[in-house]
Amino acid sequence: MDAPDRNAAASKPPITVRLSSPRGFCAGVERAIRTVEETLAHYGAPVYVRHEIVHNVHVVSRLAAMGAVFVEDLADAPADRPVVFSAHGAPKTAHDEAERRNLVKIDATCPLVTKVHNETRRHIAAGRRVLLIGHENHPEVIGTMGQAPAGAVTLVQSENDARLLPPTDAALAYVTQTTLSVDETRGVIAALKDRFPQIHGPAREDICYATSNRQAAVKAAASGADLFVVIGSSTSSNSVRLVETALQAGAVNAVLTDDAATFDWKLCEEANTIGLSAGASAPEELVEEFLEYLAGMRMVIIESVETATENIVFKSPFRLAS
Ligand code: SF4
Repeated sequence: MDAPDRNAAASKPPITVRLSSPRGFCAGVERAIRTVEETLAHYGAPVYVRHEIVHNVHVVSRLAAMGAVFVEDLADAPADRPVVFSAHGAPKTAHDEAERRNLVKIDATCPLVTKVHNETRRHIAAGRRVLLIGHENHPEVIGTMGQAPAGAVTLVQSENDARLLPPTDAALAYVTQTTLSVDETRGVIAALKDRFPQIHGPAREDICYATSNRQAAVKAAASGADLFVVIGSSTSSNSVRLVETALQAGAVNAVLTDDAATFDWKLCEEANTIGLSAGASAPEELVEEFLEYLAGMRMVIIESVETATENIVFKSPFRLAS
């Protein structure tokens, strides 16, 4: 990334940035990152981490430089080193394997994902078939499906999937992935209730506070913006949902970018107003870096669009264990 040209900035009209808040790290991500750092401090390097601890390339590379080794398969974690389970949660088979091999396992699964695991197990124990609203192959979905015997949980990805489910006399319940679009999920739940009026479900959908708050803030900032920029990685479900939310809320264009270095700055050349947010796994430094670079191109006027304040902190699994 070239250094911003401050002289060029002075000759261009100002650009308004609607800075959406809340944005960036949620309590589950902060806890997961802290857990890896604490495990490294306690046991020394290397510490193995099952799956990317959170879906952000910058977070993963920083922890890798500190001595974290990310593996997809527990078989690649040696028996004499601790292993941290990522924030997305893991299927029961992975927990069983860690126990069978006597690994020191530190579980950084977000408590709000654990809540969905518990709901799933409770429904199965009550004899209900579970419909999981979520996206195929996302690690959280794999982890939640893996709380029940094979075939006991059916994935529902859309309203259309819900309408095409075969009729059944079985008792049913639904749970959801935590990082979905609030609006789309409402439609899927309505379709399920329409098909199966007796279906059991949570009092509120399982979409977490951080996902809902970030989407609400993006909605408030997006209308009429020439461009909406979401800082986050393409593997991050909640970040991808923020891009969709911005477009649905009226932004002319919306893009996801890992950071200022990989952003296509031409997109800002003709824009007068842009929205800016960051997914729940994206560090705030990346937002600051983006604004700094933009300030080198154009005079920046920041408008804060804050729709909620957050003060949730989750205790670390280390403290829970002590
Ligand atoms: Fe937990 Fe929600 Fe953050 Fe995921 S996005 S880690 S469910 S708080």
